[in-house]
Amino acid sequence: MSIQLKEKQEITESTMTPVKIAIANGDGIGPEIMKATLRIMEAAGARIEPEFIELGKKVYSSGNTSGITNDAWDVIKKNKIILKAPITTPQGKGYKSLNVTLRKSLGLFANVRPVQALSPYVQTHFPNLDVVIIRENEEDLYAGIEHRQTQDVYQCLKLITRPGCERIIRYAFEYAKAFGRKKVTCMVKDNIMKITDGLFHQVFDEIANEYPEIENNTQIIDIGSAHLAAKPEKYDVIVTTNLYGDIISDIAAEIGGSVGMCGSANIGSKVAMFEAIHGSAPDIAGKGIANPSGLINASISMLSYIGQTNVADTIKNAWLTTLEQGYHTADIFNETYSLAKVSTEQFTDKIIQNLGNKPVKLPISNLSSGTGNINIPNYVRKQQEKKLVGVDVFLDWQGNDANKLGELLSDVDLYKMKLKMITNRGVKVYPKGLDETFCTDHWRCRFVGKQSQINGALSYQNIVYEQVISLLFKLNEIGFDVIKTENLYEFDGNRGFSLGQGE
Ligand code: NAD
Repeated sequence: MSIQLKEKQEITESTMTPVKIAIANGDGIGPEIMKATLRIMEAAGARIEPEFIELGKKVYSSGNTSGITNDAWDVIKKNKIILKAPITTPQGKGYKSLNVTLRKSLGLFANVRPVQALSPYVQTHFPNLDVVIIRENEEDLYAGIEHRQTQDVYQCLKLITRPGCERIIRYAFEYAKAFGRKKVTCMVKDNIMKITDGLFHQVFDEIANEYPEIENNTQIIDIGSAHLAAKPEKYDVIVTTNLYGDIISDIAAEIGGSVGMCGSANIGSKVAMFEAIHGSAPDIAGKGIANPSGLINASISMLSYIGQTNVADTIKNAWLTTLEQGYHTADIFNETYSLAKVSTEQFTDKIIQNLGNKPVKLPISNLSSGTGNINIPNYVRKQQEKKLVGVDVFLDWQGNDANKLGELLSDVDLYKMKLKMITNRGVKVYPKGLDETFCTDHWRCRFVGKQSQINGALSYQNIVYEQVISLLFKLNEIGFDVIKTENLYEFDGNRGFSLGQGE
């Protein structure tokens, strides 16, 4: 398999040079499950060279609030692949989440979480569940841009970008092709967020066209997640934005009965990080009873990523065989299907003994059957003509009569702009609002240039930014509290802003 992520070296199955991996032992059960995972990889013939890095509790306790040493950063930058055991996040303010730091600093744009039912050996209501959730990992409401604007109102910015959509959606289709998956489902809420989620949907349709061999469909996230929880076997690969993906990937893991068994991959164009989805389980640390399956699955994803899909299949099949034989750690032990309650080390020994065996009842892993080639081209921006046509001015205004505010603003000399409408929490309250609409102290006042009809369509006259500045100066001068503005643009004649409800 070769991987052609941007600026990443090609690694092929025939490459015999071991791939250097940054290994973080983590905290709690981390060192125990990492030892197990490394033993299995070594016995299976994985061509890797571990280089251990220090991050987590010990680093936090030394006074380093980021939880990661400079030496660890150097190894990560050099090796570009990380296998990370869970870490213990210290309680209290001042400590930065290491996972968020790693994800954002390293540009890990895709979070990939395969969830597969292992029924009847691990109990689940959905024995045929086998889904991969591919979640955009950097954008959306997770950009962390939040503000308090008035006595009553707080906001969080949802940022969706075209390059962000293109690469995560292409990644989902490429993943499907690389690992023999048949269908990709997009989940959005574009019936409400027509511009942001609308872009994600639009880009999905554009990219889906390039993969006619892979089935595709789009669902609204609310009904989509309900269906995922009720009929998960209907899904194959799901691609979605950050927040929805965060939620549905936990739903999928939970209904798969395997939160403790799942691994996840965080993929960037230069670096990739693989980890179990569970935490450091301090309650059982040091007892030798932890289930290493989550990290083993993370290592299987890592081996596929670096082109060693045959080794990945060998380990996965040995792991499935061990589960079928009934050798279960305490967390998945059950009276019906377990033969023995085994320790971490005994479970690991059994997997090693089973290397080369294939499961009889559970589906055989065949990652090497796909093209194994993930190709994400560089983003090329298509420049569009951008025209300023107005401005939304947000006011902190303590009055409660929208008509009065409308009249006050209509009296302002508007520098060839006119007040088009006022909304409160997105609902039009002027002109002609409803008495019943609840209003808070946050008023969005839309000012636009002249409108005209061109070929039957409404078009706004171009305005210049000086008009906006003059308007703001004037509003401030007459005592309005301007808390924020949003310029209104058209791109190639298409409106780049939403209408107010009722506008
Ligand atoms: P947790 O996942 O560590 O534990 C929840 C429960 O599941 C515990 O009863 C634990 O014993 C059990 N469990 C988890 N993994 C297991 C395994 N492999 N085998 C057997 N049992 C297992 O969640 P938590 O208790 O909420 O968090 C503990 C610590 O882990 C916290 O400091 C948290 O911040 C951190 N954490 C780290 C990561 C990460 O590094 N990626 C992720 C989640 C939580």
